[in-house]
Amino acid sequence: METSRGERIETPIVVNAAGLWSPIVAGLAGVELPIVVGRHPVFVVERDAGFGAPHPVFLDLAGGSYVRPESGGLTLTGSLTEDETRHPMDPEMLGADVGLEEATDVLERTGRALPRLAEARYRRGWVGAFDITPDWMPILDESPLRGFWIAAGMSGHGFKLAPAIGEMMADLIAGRTPAVSPEPFRLARFARSAAGGTFVASYLR
Ligand SMILES: Cc1cc2nc3c(=O)[nH]c(=O)nc-3n(C[C@H](O)[C@H](O)[C@H](O)COP(=O)(O)OP(=O)(O)OC[C@H]3O[C@@H](n4cnc5c(N)ncnc54)[C@H](O)[C@@H]3O)c2cc1C
Repeated sequence: METSRGERIETPIVVNAAGLWSPIVAGLAGVELPIVVGRHPVFVVERDAGFGAPHPVFLDLAGGSYVRPESGGLTLTGSLTEDETRHPMDPEMLGADVGLEEATDVLERTGRALPRLAEARYRRGWVGAFDITPDWMPILDESPLRGFWIAAGMSGHGFKLAPAIGEMMADLIAGRTPAVSPEPFRLARFARSAAGGTFVASYLR
C-alpha cells in the first residue's frame, strides 16, 4: 500500500472502511463497489420558548421525518423519505451549507409529526450523506482482490452497527466463525440478484 505521503506499507491485509470515500479507495485497487454516495441534508430549528420540556428522539417512519433534541432549545431534524440515491453527490461536499429553500419540505414533514415544531425558527442546515448499497445493508467481505477487505456501504446505519461490524470483520479476517452469519453482507450478493431495499426496510430486518 502507498500513502498520499509516498510511504509504502507492506501488509497482507487492507480494510477499506473509508465510508463515503470507500468506492474511490476501492477504485485505487481496481475493485468496483455498488455504492452510491447519496445526499442527506440535516437542519437545526429553535423551539419556541413555550415548547416546554425537550421532545424525545422520534422517527416518523410513515411520515418521513426524524427529530433529535439538542441543548439550547434546538432540534436537529431530517428526512426519512429514502430519496438519497436520487441525489448522488461528491463526498467532498460533506458539511457544506444548505439554504432554507431546501429545508422547506423537510420542516413541513417535521411539523406534521410534532405540530408544536411547525412554529420553530429555522437556524441552519448542512449537507450530510450516506454510502448506500442496493439493499441498504453494508458490505462486510473480502473483495475479489485477496487481502483487500471491505467494511463499507453503511447506508445510514453505520453508527449503531459499528461495534458489531468491528467484531465481525475481526472474526472474518482472522478466519474465525462470526457470531452472526456473514452471508447477508457478502459482496457477491449483488451479482446473484437485483437486490432492492429501502432505509426503513433495512431497519426492520
Ligand atoms: C445526518 C446523518 C444522520 C445519521 N444518523 C445515524 C443514526 O442515527 N444511526 C446510525 O447508525 N447511523 C447514522 N448515520 C450514518 C452514520 O453516521 C455512518 O453510517 C457512519 O458514520 C459511517 O461510519 P464509517 O466508519 O463507515 O465511515 P466514516 O465515519 O465516514 O469514516 C470513514 C473515514 O475514512 C477516511 N478516509 C477517506 N478516504 C481515505 C483515504 N484515502 N485514506 C485514509 N482514510 C480515508 C475519512 O476521512 C473518514 O474518517 C447518519 C448519517 C448522517 C449523514
